Formats: sequence, C-alpha cells, structure tokens
Amino acid sequence: MQYLPDFIRKLIDEFDKLPGIGPKTSAKLVFDLLHRKEDIRELSQALDKAYKNIHFCPQCFDLSNDGLCNICKNPQRDQTVICVVAGNQDVDAIEKTNEFNGIYHLLNGLISPLEGLTPDKLKIKELADRLAKNNIREVIIALDQSLEGEATTLYLSKLLKNHSVKVSQLARGIPMGANIEYTDQATLSSALQNRKEL
Ligand SMILES: [Zn+2]
Repeated sequence: MQYLPDFIRKLIDEFDKLPGIGPKTSAKLVFDLLHRKEDIRELSQALDKAYKNIHFCPQCFDLSNDGLCNICKNPQRDQTVICVVAGNQDVDAIEKTNEFNGIYHLLNGLISPLEGLTPDKLKIKELADRLAKNNIREVIIALDQSLEGEATTLYLSKLLKNHSVKVSQLARGIPMGANIEYTDQATLSSALQNRKEL
C-alpha cells in the first residue's frame, strides 16, 4: 500500500478501525468510494454533522443529540423500570419488539478482562448511582448469553443485592452464545415476558 498517496492510506486505516472490517475490506470500500466523488461529499458532510452533534444521554448513555435521549425524556415511558444492556444495538433490538416500556442503561460493553474491560471501565457505578437516586422498582438485565454476558450478569446481580430493587434476567429463550442484537423479535419478546427474578 506504500505506493498509494498518503490521504488514501489514511482513509484505509480509518475504515480498518471499524469493527468487522479488516484491511482487505477497508481497502475495497475506499477504492470503491474514491470513484464516487458525490458520495464522498455526502459522507463527509454526514460525518461532520455527526461529529458536531453527537452527545450521550447523561442518564442512560444512549445516543442523543442534546441532553437526555428521546427514551429518557418520554413521559409515556415507565421511569421505574430499567433494562440494562451492553450497547446501542441492543436498545434497537429490544425497541423493535415493542415489549418494553421502561428506560435503559447502557453499560458500553461487557466485562472481559482479556480485552481490558474490567467493571470500572463500564457504566456500572453509574447504574448503582441511578438506583440510589431514583425510585427504581425493577432492573432487567438483558445481556448476551456469552461468557462475557454471563460474567457481567453475575457481577451485576451480586452488586444489586445491596439495593432494594427487584432484579430479573431475560428468560433462556435466547440460544447460548447468541447476541441480543441478532435474536429474532419473537424470541426476544418472549425472553422479556418470561424474565426470571434473580
Ligand atoms: Zn437516556
């Protein structure tokens, strides 16, 4: 790739940082994009807008364009039930089921010591603070059925024992090793309905 101009190599490096891409796909995407000048302009404008406007909700840490996110500030949502998820894609999956009317808490990952993701790197302390400050009735832990998801659920259930709040976990409808974001809506709906108290 040394033969390419610097700005192209830089672009390839940036795409390569995205999850699930890799250097080959990254180069393919960039080469394709470079032949579509109008698309490059649209993409760069969209990215610039995202850079200038993106905020994270100070309460649940979901994406927001300013202050509280649309879910936290919606008066129709039950503010006493919190669903704990790993990231944005899980909120998306659960919202699509139309089964949950509470609010969320995004941990921004799962406990994974091998990847350096220890509990202090996740928004776990912030969750405990929310429970202490707000009048929360129930916490539903909705994490992937993976080793990391199980470890995080265990950690949270121990931590939440110190709070007077009902703690439940999604029912085992979700196949072992499956990610919430890839679970079909019907399975996810029934896992929510049949959640088990911890
Ligand atoms: Zn929020």
